[in-house]
Amino acid sequence: MNRNALRYDLHSHSTASDGELSPTELVEHAKKSGVNVLALTDHDTVGGIAEATAAARQHGITLIPGVEISITWNRRLIHIVALGIDPQHSELSQGLQTLRQQRETRAEEIGRRLKKKGIEGALEGAQRLANGATLSRTHFARFLLEQGHIKGLQQAFDRYLGEGKPAYVPSRWITLEQCLTWIHNAGGQAVIAHPARYKMTATKLRRLLSDFKKCGGVAIEVISGSQGFDVSQQIAQQAIRFELLASVGSDYHGPSQSWLKMGHLPALPEGCHAIWEAWERRA
Ligand code: AMP
Ligand code: MN
Ligand code: MN
Ligand code: MN
Repeated sequence: MNRNALRYDLHSHSTASDGELSPTELVEHAKKSGVNVLALTDHDTVGGIAEATAAARQHGITLIPGVEISITWNRRLIHIVALGIDPQHSELSQGLQTLRQQRETRAEEIGRRLKKKGIEGALEGAQRLANGATLSRTHFARFLLEQGHIKGLQQAFDRYLGEGKPAYVPSRWITLEQCLTWIHNAGGQAVIAHPARYKMTATKLRRLLSDFKKCGGVAIEVISGSQGFDVSQQIAQQAIRFELLASVGSDYHGPSQSWLKMGHLPALPEGCHAIWEAWERRA
């Protein structure tokens, strides 16, 4: 790898959604970890971007304004990362607001379902821990941990919150078309987040990539913090086949993910074209 190459991390979370670090702390952590270009991509909100941008300027790193949007494609929950959006674009910010409202309604139902399992006060607990951030299942998981109902966050998803578990509330988010329209109108590029997390068959994944391309999507996370390198190589093959650019993102949520180190992601496999190649040519 080129020794002078910039280190990119294009997927991360702050306390504006379910991250543990404030936008400023996240930027400081990225800087310390050797990241030169960081995208803040909180779930369904751009609320942390102004603070992160100011901190990045202070620390001499580049902050790419982003957001991670929940969509429903073929009855599945898929995450689309938007990069380089104008965080003030009104169609996008109003759209994200409706998604956050939908999350509030979902959270009420999660709270009711946990109550049926004998767990009191979960909605209020999750809201308290979210402290105004995008309300997420992660906040319920943290509440369950705090109250001693589980031994680790993963157990919260395995026992209660994961798909098909008693407190899992299926939700119909926006469509792929709608999501990409918001992103493009706000000047951004669309990236399929952590493709291996959906546990799709190869056929389904190809269908997703094909639909995504038709809607103007340009990239896929070939390297993701939650993904082994063998998986990344398979994703790289699909990226090349579908002529999608490759993105790299840790999906960092904070220090409690002790196995995940920012700035230590593997290099892109041979043959991939990084999403930042065109950014660097323009700069
Ligand atoms: P939500 O967007 O509210 O549906 O919550 C999804 C978030 O929960 C993801 O962004 C992850 O941060 C976290 N999450 C999802 N599944 C798991 C899991 N199995 N273990 C730990 N965290 C998870
Ligand atoms: Mn998350
Ligand atoms: Mn995600
Ligand atoms: Mn994420």
